[in-house]
Amino acid sequence: MAKLFESVRYLKGVGEARAKLFASMGITTLYDLISWFPRTYEDRSRIVPISELQADEPACFRAFVTSQPRTHHIRKGLDLTKLTVADDTARLNITFFNQRYAAGSLEYAREYYFYGTLTGDYLGYQITNPVFEDVDRPGVLTRRIMPVYPLTAGVSNGLIARSVKQALDACLAELPEILPEPLRRQYGLCSAAEAYRGIHAPESFEALDVARRRLVFEEFFIFSVGLSLLRGRRSRHSRVPMERTDLSAFLAALPFTLTGAQRRAIDEIAADFASGGVMNRMVQGDVGSGKTVVAAAAAWMAAQNGLQSALMAPTEILAEQHARSLERLMTPLGVRTTLLTGSMTAAQKKIARQAIAEHRVDLIIGTHALITEATDFKNLGLVIADEQHRFGVAQRAALAEKGNDPHILVMSATPIPRTLARILYGDLDISVIDELPPGRQKVDTFLVGEDMRARINAFIRKQAAEGRQCFIVCPAIEEGEDENLRSAEAWAETLQKAVFPDLRVALVHGRMKSAQKDETMRAFAAGDYDILVATTVIEVGVDVPNATLMVVENADRFGLSQLHQLRGRVGRGSAKSYCVLFSSNKNQETLRRLKALCKTNDGFEISREDLALRGPGDFFGTRQSGLPAFKVGSLSMDLETLRQAQTAAAEFVGSEELAKRPEYAPLMERIRALFTENGTVEV
Ligand code: ADP
Ligand code: MG
Repeated sequence: MAKLFESVRYLKGVGEARAKLFASMGITTLYDLISWFPRTYEDRSRIVPISELQADEPACFRAFVTSQPRTHHIRKGLDLTKLTVADDTARLNITFFNQRYAAGSLEYAREYYFYGTLTGDYLGYQITNPVFEDVDRPGVLTRRIMPVYPLTAGVSNGLIARSVKQALDACLAELPEILPEPLRRQYGLCSAAEAYRGIHAPESFEALDVARRRLVFEEFFIFSVGLSLLRGRRSRHSRVPMERTDLSAFLAALPFTLTGAQRRAIDEIAADFASGGVMNRMVQGDVGSGKTVVAAAAAWMAAQNGLQSALMAPTEILAEQHARSLERLMTPLGVRTTLLTGSMTAAQKKIARQAIAEHRVDLIIGTHALITEATDFKNLGLVIADEQHRFGVAQRAALAEKGNDPHILVMSATPIPRTLARILYGDLDISVIDELPPGRQKVDTFLVGEDMRARINAFIRKQAAEGRQCFIVCPAIEEGEDENLRSAEAWAETLQKAVFPDLRVALVHGRMKSAQKDETMRAFAAGDYDILVATTVIEVGVDVPNATLMVVENADRFGLSQLHQLRGRVGRGSAKSYCVLFSSNKNQETLRRLKALCKTNDGFEISREDLALRGPGDFFGTRQSGLPAFKVGSLSMDLETLRQAQTAAAEFVGSEELAKRPEYAPLMERIRALFTENGTVEV
C-alpha cells in the first residue's frame, strides 16, 4: 500500500506550489487524487475531418500546420496568435488569445491533434484556443473520452488529468478491493482497479457505464451497510415502553368521528408502543386527511403512560396553530401543553424550558429549535415531526443522544419511495391515510392567463360578498427581486388601493416578525380580512375553513407538490372551493404539468409526478433533507443500482458469518471510517 498513500509530490510536474493547491482541494495522497472523480466527460475520441466539423460542437481533428504562427501584440494584456491548419478535406483558421507560449510550440508543417469548437458563420469559420498535441507525442488531452474534473483556481483540467494518469499507473495494482469477488459476480460488478481506470480513462462510453456502476454500487452499499449497523447499535428495546392505552376518553373528546384510515394509523401506533420496541413510523396522508389528530392520539397515549411528547413543526406559524388547536383538545383531557419557539422572549422560553425539565407539561409544540437548542426533557417518550420528509438520520441521532431514544412519528403529505425512505430513515414503518374526512369537496382548479384577470377579480369580489375569504399567493416578497415575478408587498398595496378599496386586504410574508405574522394570520382566521396576500409561508398546514379561494400568481414558479399544498389551504370547510393558477408561461411542458394539477386532487399522484420530474435531490432539497451527498451515485438516476445495493447490504448484514470473513475486512474498515462512533453519519 506504500504508493497509494504517497504524497502527490511523488508525481512528475507536481512541485511544492501545486501540491499546496491540491491540498486545498483535499488531495494530498495519490489515493486522494484517483478518488477525485470527473464531473462529466467530453467526447474527444472521434477524429472528425475538418470539412465535417459542426459549428458550436466541440470536436477532435487531426491537421498539419500550414502557416507560420504569427503573434500580434494588440494592446497591453491582449496578444493574438494566428495560423492556418489543414487536413485532406479543408483548411481552417486558428486563433489563440494570450497563449503566445503555448501557440509558439506549434511548428510549421508538423501534424497535430486538435480539440476545439468551430465558431463563426458563412463569412468565415475559425477555432479559438483549441488544445493540441503532437501526433508523434500524444498525451491525455486528445483522442479519447476526456474526463472533466471539478477544479479550483490555479489547477487546470489538464494538470489533474495528467496527474491522475500517472497516479493510476503507479498505484492501481495496490488498490484495495472492497467488494469481494463473489459479491461482484452476483451483481455483475467490475473490479476496483477496472472501475478506477474506467472512470478516469474510459475506452468507450460503455466501459464508462461499467466503471461508474461499480463505484455507485460500492458507495450505496457501504452507506446501506453502515446505516444498518448504526441501527443495530441503537437499542432494539425501548427504554420508554408503554402499556396499551384505552382510547375511549380521547375519542369521546373529539368533535368528529375518526375516518377508518385515521383509526388504522392510530392502531398501528398503539401496537408499536405496546410492542416494547422503539417506534419509527411515518404517517403519510394527503393535505387535509387529518394527520394532526393522529399525532394528538399518539401524544395522548404517551401522556397516559407518564411520558412527554414533542411535536416539531417546520414553521412558527404552523407551530402556533398546532399549539392553539391541540391546547383546546388536550387540556380538557388533562394533557398539559406548551409552545416553544425561537421567537418567544428569553423569559418566556425560560419558563417553558423549566416546565419541560420538571415535567409540568406533557406535550411540547415548537419548531426545530426544540431539538437543536438546549432543551432538557424530563421524560421524553415521543417525538412527532410534522409535515416533513426532512427528519433524517442525523436529526434522529441527535435526539437519541438526548438520552431516551424516544419513539419517532413523522407526519408527511409526501409519499416517499421505499428506497429513499430507507436511505432517509434507515428502517421506517409507514401508515397511509388514504381517506379524506367526510364532506370534503374537490377543489376546482383552473389555469388562466392575464386575459382572465378582470373575471377573476370579479370572482374574488363575489366570494367576499358571500362572506368567504381568499388567499392570494405571490412568489416574491418585495418589488425588484425579479421583475417578472409578482411581489406580495406591491400586489397587496395595488389590490387594496386600486382594485378592492372596499374590501379588507392583509399581507403576510416570511420576512415579517413572527408576532406580526401570527397576529395577521389570527385576524384573517377570525374573519377580519377578506383577502390575504401571502408568500408560501402559508404553504403548510394553515387552517382557515372559511377560505374558499386560492389564487396563485406566477404559478409556473412553484413545484407541483407545493401548489398542491397551497391548494390544500382551501376546501377545508363545507363550502365549495376553488383554486386559480395564473401563468403566462408558454412552455408546453410547464403547461402540461400545471394542467395535470387541474385534473387531479390526488396529492400522491401529484407527488409522484413531481418526484419523477425533478428527482429527489431537488424535490427534497438535498441540503436540508438529511439526504447524504453521494460522490458518484445520484439518487435520481441510479435508483436501480441503489435498490440492488440495498438488497446486497441486507444480505450482508443479515449474515453474521460474512462480516467475519477476511475478504470483507477492507469493507468493514471503510465503513467504520465513515460512520463515527457517536452515531452521526458522515458520508
Ligand atoms: P393534515 O393531514 O393536512 O394535517 P389536519 O389534521 O390539519 O390535516 O386536518 C384538516 C381538518 O380536518 C382539520 O380542521 C381537522 O379538524 C379536520 N378533521 C380531521 N379529521 C377529521 C374527521 N375524521 N372528520 C372530520 N373532520 C376532520
Ligand atoms: Mg397537518
